[in-house]
Amino acid sequence: MADAGVTGRYAPSPTGDLHLGNLRTAAVAWAAARSAGGRFLVRVEDVDTGRCREAFVERQLADLAAVGLDWDGPVLRQSTRGERYAAALGRLPTYPCWCSRREIREAASAPHGAPGAYPGTCRRMDPGELARRAAARRAAGLGPAIRLAAEVGSWTVHDLLAGEYRGEVDDMVLRRADGDWAYHLAVVVDDAEQGVTQVVRGADLLASAPRQAHLATLLGHRPPEYLHVPLVLGPTGARLAKRDGAVTLRELDPARARAWIMSSLGFPGAPVERLPELFHPALLPADSPTLGA
Ligand code: GLU
Repeated sequence: MADAGVTGRYAPSPTGDLHLGNLRTAAVAWAAARSAGGRFLVRVEDVDTGRCREAFVERQLADLAAVGLDWDGPVLRQSTRGERYAAALGRLPTYPCWCSRREIREAASAPHGAPGAYPGTCRRMDPGELARRAAARRAAGLGPAIRLAAEVGSWTVHDLLAGEYRGEVDDMVLRRADGDWAYHLAVVVDDAEQGVTQVVRGADLLASAPRQAHLATLLGHRPPEYLHVPLVLGPTGARLAKRDGAVTLRELDPARARAWIMSSLGFPGAPVERLPELFHPALLPADSPTLGA
């Protein structure tokens, strides 16, 4: 098969307005794909029905355009993709998990096992006890979450900035008890079916990459290459947040946002349109820029 070249994407969740840190990461994702002569996609990650708001979808797209980004093809909405996620789920080794939030918290902080990892409680439970637990939860109107029956404990990915990164793979949730599709499954299925070869996103998601690369491999897909972009810090030195004020295009002139993005990437005074020609992953500042210090 001919090499189809690079396909990058930016995949925001419509849970709020994009702030300068998000817009900077989006600009890097766009420039990384365009500088390689590749396609660039935008995907709306609206699987979490409790947290996503329709009003933010158009605002996020308008803000990406306002900082000078363009994208190819229609914007894919994860909320339309349930059948594809269900098909993928059917190809993976899974089991139902009836644990409550509290049980998961307690299990994940038990002294043995990787910190934060689900230790497979329902997978290992005595069948009689599991059936009793399931009946009690069903009687309370609750359904099970569906988890991956993971066969490995960790997985290594290659990140263009972090290098080889080894991280945990646990029995991750693929479908939530409330019926919503889980983020890891949706991302992996969409990236594969959209032909995404390059995932550029915030450094807060580096720890998710091994789980997702492993899931992709289980589904028979080649994992993408990764570039996790250091997060922008706010005036207090903590990760930039909307409460820092004047960080979204509701309060900021897009021209000033564009100028800040370019100077934070080491190209002060250059227009965003030139970023694809100037950008190279090796030139990405490895340190987090600080806003308004
Ligand atoms: N939708 C995720 C977020 O907004 C990003 C997922 C990804 O880039 O893989 O945090």
